[in-house]
Amino acid sequence: MAYSYILVASHDSNSKECARALAEVAAYSLHLLSRAHFGCDVDVHVGWAIIEADNDTQARLSLPPSMREKAQVVRVKRYSPDEIAHIRSFHKI
Ligand SMILES: [Zn+2]
Repeated sequence: MAYSYILVASHDSNSKECARALAEVAAYSLHLLSRAHFGCDVDVHVGWAIIEADNDTQARLSLPPSMREKAQVVRVKRYSPDEIAHIRSFHKI
């Protein structure tokens, strides 16, 4: 079963490092590039992407090698209104 993961990879705040990060993602995976959003234009030098993977290791491997060690890789999920209602009922909130 595939899970959703959010990948969060930052880089130093100078235009050469922005170019390097973008080039590494583009060279490594056009699929990842198509999923990625970058905050460079507003001086937040972070790339975010939500991807599908079977486990934490596979999710991390979807990043270029230079980004794997420092990136946050977090399994995430969405909740439906019904699930939230069930959770609220369980916790009586
Ligand atoms: Zn940047």
